[in-house]
Amino acid sequence: MTRNSNLPVYLDNAATTPVDPAVAAVMAECLTAEGVFGNPASRSHCYGWDAEERVEQARVELAECIGCDPREVVWTSGATESNNLAIKGVALARRDRGRHVITSRAEHKAVIDSCLWLARQGFEVTWLDPEPTGVVAPEAVAAALRPETVLVSLMAVNNELGVCNDIEAIAALTRPAGVPLHVDAAQALGKMPLDVAALGADLMSFSGHKIYGPKGVGALYVRRHRDLVVEPQIHGGGHERGLRSGTLATHQIAAMGHACVIADAGLGAEMQRLQQLRTRFLDALAVLPDVKLNGGAERSVPGIVNLAFGGVDGEALILALSADVACSTASACTTATIEPSHVLRAIGLDDALAHASIRFSVGRFTTAEEVDFAAERVVDTVTRLRSAHAESPLAAGR
Ligand SMILES: *Cc1c(COP(=O)(O)O)cnc(C)c1O
Repeated sequence: MTRNSNLPVYLDNAATTPVDPAVAAVMAECLTAEGVFGNPASRSHCYGWDAEERVEQARVELAECIGCDPREVVWTSGATESNNLAIKGVALARRDRGRHVITSRAEHKAVIDSCLWLARQGFEVTWLDPEPTGVVAPEAVAAALRPETVLVSLMAVNNELGVCNDIEAIAALTRPAGVPLHVDAAQALGKMPLDVAALGADLMSFSGHKIYGPKGVGALYVRRHRDLVVEPQIHGGGHERGLRSGTLATHQIAAMGHACVIADAGLGAEMQRLQQLRTRFLDALAVLPDVKLNGGAERSVPGIVNLAFGGVDGEALILALSADVACSTASACTTATIEPSHVLRAIGLDDALAHASIRFSVGRFTTAEEVDFAAERVVDTVTRLRSAHAESPLAAGR
């Protein structure tokens, strides 16, 4: 099979996406002296007014994408910061009411580490185990809620598995209990319809670089409600209604707004196209025996597949593929050992299977030809690694 580029096929869109050229153009308009370079907080001249107008336009664009009031959008540096602000900000603001928070073992590290920080401040954390599908059962949330619970934080779409939590059902439990629900929606924005009012979430985190926008920008939706107070985590000039100080990055924000417009406009067609690419990829891999799909397939975004290749070391497979296909394991390299993904462990995979797992994620710029080429390379490489393993003296004794 021939391809135009010598670079490996990029199947790691869940890690980050390239900036859409139309988004890059919007970004470039907000940088140089001819463009909208002013400080959005400058109130005394048109440079500042124009920059503020671009920031507010982007706020409306994101708000329209998720169905909220623009005043409910806080700009941040990314979903990591949004998660920190939501989790620490809400828990600290409510600490006199109780010190119990609920999250799951399948969350992104930005959520897990924020909750671990709260634990060091004297909060008690309930770590829910997801189902083998990767989804957190609403019944598990119901069972964990207590009178002293001050926050529930659960993701919309899992970044390793692509599976979706039933946020609506979870919010139907937290809202009547008066407990704020934070949702890390970094992998959901632009990938599935999102309507904050219908979902019932109180806070939601978003990231620019997962939706063909730039890295270093994100947002936090904070529902306007007198009982929902967020303690700021970055202090300074009082930007963003005091919730997040720091000069607003006009180019980043305008770009994220435009990325939302593009994603929203093409959402239905894009979901269908990605679903077809995913099916095409899985169909081509069907010739391989002993391949297991990690996570449930019923509730998932179309772009992500996580596969366990029995008898193959995922790291060795990725290395062997690296000239042809760019994909990832979720393993974290600690000082001495390679730890299997905490998400795969949480859904009950043993270490061997977790180490045999790889995430492939297609995106807006992935073509059918690329998927065919990648699948062919995966089939060849897995077959080769398995037969090399079978012939090795180490395997002979088994
Ligand atoms: C990428 C990602 C984040 C972190 O977003 P940044 O903007 O890179 O900080 C958080 N949560 C999930 C689920 C993600 O996929």
